[in-house]
Amino acid sequence: MRALSLGAALLVLGGCASIGSAPDRSTATVVGESEDFIVAVPVRNETSGTLARTYLADATKAWMIEDFNRGARTFAAGQRVVIPRRPWNPAGVEPTGYQLVPILVYHNLGPQSKGRLTLGSGAFAEQMRYLKREGYRVVSLAEFVEWLRLKRQLPRKSVVLTFDDGYHSFRDYAYPVLKQLGFPATLFVYTDYVGAGRNALSWDELKPLVAEGFDVQAHSKTHGDLRRLAGETDAQYARRMQAELAVGLQLLGAGVTRPQQLRPRRHRRARGQHERRAERGGGPHRRFSSWKRFRFLANCSSVISE
Ligand SMILES: [Zn+2]
Repeated sequence: MRALSLGAALLVLGGCASIGSAPDRSTATVVGESEDFIVAVPVRNETSGTLARTYLADATKAWMIEDFNRGARTFAAGQRVVIPRRPWNPAGVEPTGYQLVPILVYHNLGPQSKGRLTLGSGAFAEQMRYLKREGYRVVSLAEFVEWLRLKRQLPRKSVVLTFDDGYHSFRDYAYPVLKQLGFPATLFVYTDYVGAGRNALSWDELKPLVAEGFDVQAHSKTHGDLRRLAGETDAQYARRMQAELAVGLQLLGAGVTRPQQLRPRRHRRARGQHERRAERGGGPHRRFSSWKRFRFLANCSSVISE
């Protein structure tokens, strides 16, 4: 395995090959094989997708081939390609550093951009198309959490999409684009806002979104500031957090039932950490590898969310 890894590092990649009409199945010659890797040499230009479909029986695993071959998405005839058969780096730690997964936090969308919190639908669609074009993989929040727990390797170019507050504009502008591109997303809704007027999504609108695989998570009950207020006693603060976090979650649980694949048990635990941290008001955390990344998510939300 080590010899193969070194071999991969020494591969010199040619320029981007033009693909034309990509064949469904690879016609590459397999020149080496082990439990962990296949080494193939295409006889004509091929894509990571074709190779993944043929050798990994799953075109969506193309990222594994790309990540193992310095990000290459196309392979020229005669070029050696190392195809990893299974995940090799669930921690995302490499000699040059560790993996960070950007979490994009959107709020309101509209026909035109307005202020810091409303993005124009055209700009949003262009951002999504950019991600697709540049080979980013949009992963679900559940997959992201599994990665935090070192249970799943994520593509090097992973990104998570989140939408705060529960605006109806998600359904109007984001949903059609996300459906078209096959991107998963998480909505963080605060339950007092659900169904509150025509700018808000209702429970009846959230349910079908969940049924289609979109993830709906808690963004507190009233969207209040979770930091301790000046002069607030321990008991008052605990009561307020109970209302914002626990009650908000109960209401969310009653409003939408999550599909099986989102692993609600794991989720709840991860969210529990988040809540406990909020109650403690921050501070260093022992579980560095996991926490550093999760805090990125929390920071993102608190900085941008208003
Ligand atoms: Zn918010």
